[in-house]
Amino acid sequence: MNGVSETGVMVNVDGTGNRVAGSLFGHKKVYFVLGVNKIMPTLEEAIYRARNVAAPKNVLRHGYKCGCSLQGGDRCYDCSAPDRICNVLAIYYKKMRNIEMEVILINEDLGY
Ligand code: SF4
Repeated sequence: MNGVSETGVMVNVDGTGNRVAGSLFGHKKVYFVLGVNKIMPTLEEAIYRARNVAAPKNVLRHGYKCGCSLQGGDRCYDCSAPDRICNVLAIYYKKMRNIEMEVILINEDLGY
């Protein structure tokens, strides 16, 4: 998970869709483990964080050549690079029907 609003709406950016797909369907129960560094005041700020903080850091970690990494990872440049990891943005307003979902919030900065 790349960001969550103070009202509990979560957002996730994905490049191939495997993480988003697996979190929405096909499993009996899904756990989301989040550090408090993902919490932002509003949904808009959570989306901004996902796109401009989490994604560039992940690109740098993987060593991909994308608009953000070529600029040092300071923000998103909405690139069209083959390595682009931002191809879908999922917004989790509430849990999906017919699946159990649990959010575990850890009082530490974890991941991006
Ligand atoms: S869209 Fe491109 S520039 Fe923006 S964060 Fe994703 S990979 Fe980086």
